[in-house]
Amino acid sequence: MSNSNKKIALVLLSGGLDSILAARIIADTGRFFVVGYYFQHPFASKSPKIDSIERQAHTLGIPLIVDSDDHGFIDMVKHPQYGVGKGANPCVDCKVFMIKRAFRVLQAMNGDFLVSGEVVGQRPMSQLKHTLLRIDKLADVRGVMLRPLSGKILPLTLPETEGWISHNELLDISGRGRNRQLELAQSLGVSDFPMPAGGCLLTEVEFSKRVIDLIEKNNDFGKLEVEALKFGRHFRLPAGLKLIVARDDSDSEKMLSVLAGKYWIITTSEIPGPWAALDRKPSQDELVEVAGIVAGYSKARLSEAVAIEVVSPEGTKISLSVHPLDKRDYSRFLL
Ligand code: SF4
Repeated sequence: MSNSNKKIALVLLSGGLDSILAARIIADTGRFFVVGYYFQHPFASKSPKIDSIERQAHTLGIPLIVDSDDHGFIDMVKHPQYGVGKGANPCVDCKVFMIKRAFRVLQAMNGDFLVSGEVVGQRPMSQLKHTLLRIDKLADVRGVMLRPLSGKILPLTLPETEGWISHNELLDISGRGRNRQLELAQSLGVSDFPMPAGGCLLTEVEFSKRVIDLIEKNNDFGKLEVEALKFGRHFRLPAGLKLIVARDDSDSEKMLSVLAGKYWIITTSEIPGPWAALDRKPSQDELVEVAGIVAGYSKARLSEAVAIEVVSPEGTKISLSVHPLDKRDYSRFLL
């Protein structure tokens, strides 16, 4: 991929303001052919982020490459080498993983350097100066990764030593403050960007409890199990069975669209009650127990018998009648 003889810069877009600003700094020189790169991972928050990335690339006037590797990413989350943050977020491993992939794309297009919107000191785990440089070393991109927002306070990179861009065209932003980025956005007329708001479910402590439970109890999990973590109440029963009970209609809709035909689906058949799912065939005792939990979330009184219907992934139906369990009997299984 080339546009005249311009050097090719591959900009890692994250969806946030900083990577848009980094792309603008490089694009506004007029000296580079700029391409956006977005890595889509399975733990991104529920919002339709890809739409906003496409819109950002369109506004920047640059082509966009969307990449993913669910299997590789999930494997990295299971086996982080450099620790995790406050949740199950292995940020250093994750950055190395994504940068390596971006570098392969850069090489495949005969590109010249990578660009990131990272700012020195902005995030505690992965953006300290020495961590940024360590990540570059681990990803084997030392000197190839340019961070325009903090470039003046970082060692020289290939684009600078080759004279493609001057150190003085780069900025010296550092720390957690956002004022300089917001001022820059205003001066460049950048207005379409989301407010910083996480975006990665692995940083959320409650969600991470479910991830850690999966790693411990069902280590060969894949994309389906990750998708199933994103809705409902999750219970891990003593013999290892996972029960997911929908909280509301929106959860039920997601549950059925993601898990029907793959998990065992349970619901009350004669009175209003929640939809629920099991990740494997239950034993007879487990079936009675989960049916009691599901009935416990229906409108029935504890003394009332509740008709429950269970459908296997293959479509076999089982009907049974149980009394609702008292929430106090199973709340300890809640993740
Ligand atoms: S917050 Fe999530 S996406 Fe971002 S570096 Fe950490 S693990 Fe990766």
